[in-house]
Amino acid sequence: MKILVKAPAKINLSLDILGKRKDNYHEVRMIMTTIDLADRIELEDIPENKIIIQSHNRFVPDDQRNLAYQAAALLKEHCNVKQGVIITIDKVIPVAAGLAGGSSDAAATLRGLNKLWNLGLSLDELAELGARIGSDVSFCVYGGTAIATGRGEKIEHIQVPPSCWVVLAKPVIGVSTAEVYKNVDMQNMVHPNVDRMIEAISENNYEKMCNSVGNVLEAVTFQMHPEVERIKEQMKKFGADAALMSGSGPTVFSLVRHDSRMHRVYNGLKGFCEQVYAVRLIGERETLE
Ligand code: ATP
Repeated sequence: MKILVKAPAKINLSLDILGKRKDNYHEVRMIMTTIDLADRIELEDIPENKIIIQSHNRFVPDDQRNLAYQAAALLKEHCNVKQGVIITIDKVIPVAAGLAGGSSDAAATLRGLNKLWNLGLSLDELAELGARIGSDVSFCVYGGTAIATGRGEKIEHIQVPPSCWVVLAKPVIGVSTAEVYKNVDMQNMVHPNVDRMIEAISENNYEKMCNSVGNVLEAVTFQMHPEVERIKEQMKKFGADAALMSGSGPTVFSLVRHDSRMHRVYNGLKGFCEQVYAVRLIGERETLE
C-alpha cells in the first residue's frame, strides 16, 4: 500500500532567545506558522525490514542522515514494527533555508507511517517522538500556528493569523543553524516583542502583526552573510508590509496583503534572486494527509 503525505514549510513570525541551557541548547520563544509551500512524501509499505529513501534532489541525503529516515527508524523501534518502507521525497521546500524542510519531512513521515502501519499513536505521542529527532519536528507534527518554547519542542497552539501572501526569497548560500546559534551574542541581543505578536494574532490585527515581526538571529546571520540583509531591504523597497528572516536563515520572507503588491515584490526579487516563491500563509491545523 502507498500513501501520500504533505509536509508544509514553516516561518517564524517572531523568534527570541531567552537564555542558554545546561544541555547547550538555547531556550527559545517563537511564533511558528505553516505556509502553503510543501514537500510531498510518498510512503510505500514493503515486507523487507528496511528503510529506503528516494529523492531527485542532490542536497537531500538518501541514508540515515535524512530526518525522514530517522523518523521511520524511531517509529519502527518504538512500536516494534518488522516491515519496511520506501520513502519518496518530492522536494519543493528549499534545503538548509530556515524553513524546517527536513523537520517537516520527518513529521510527515511520523504521521503517515502511524496511519500506514495502523499504530494508533496520538499526535501528542508523535510530537514527543519527533522532539528526539529535532527541535522543530514537534511543531511540524501538528502544523498550524503555535508558540514554541523550551528548545522549540514545547507547543502551545494559538489562533490562525490574519490571511495574507508570503513572498519568500532564498539566496544561493546555505546556512548552518548550529553555526548561527554558536555566534549569538547573549549580552547584546535586540529582543523582539513576542507578546505583542501573540496579541496581534489574537486580535486578528494585520497591521499590528506586520509591525511586530522580529527575529533575534537576524543580526547574527546578517553579519555572516550581508546579502541576506540586502534581500530584506529590497523587499521593503518593493513595498512589502513586513520583511523578516525565517529561523536562522538565509530565507527572507515578506508579508503582503494585496495581490498587486505581491506581484511587485515577487517580480522585483526575481530580478536578482533565483529562488523566489509567493504562497499563502496557512496557519491552520488542516488535515495534512
Ligand atoms: P530548520 O529551519 O529546522 O533549521 P532548515 O530549513 O534550515 O531547518 P533543512 O532543509 O531541514 O534546514 O536541512 C538542513 C540539513 O539537513 C540539510 O543540509 C540536509 O543535509 C539535512 N537533511 C536531512 N534530512 C533532510 C530532508 N528530508 N530534507 C532536507 N534536508 C535534509
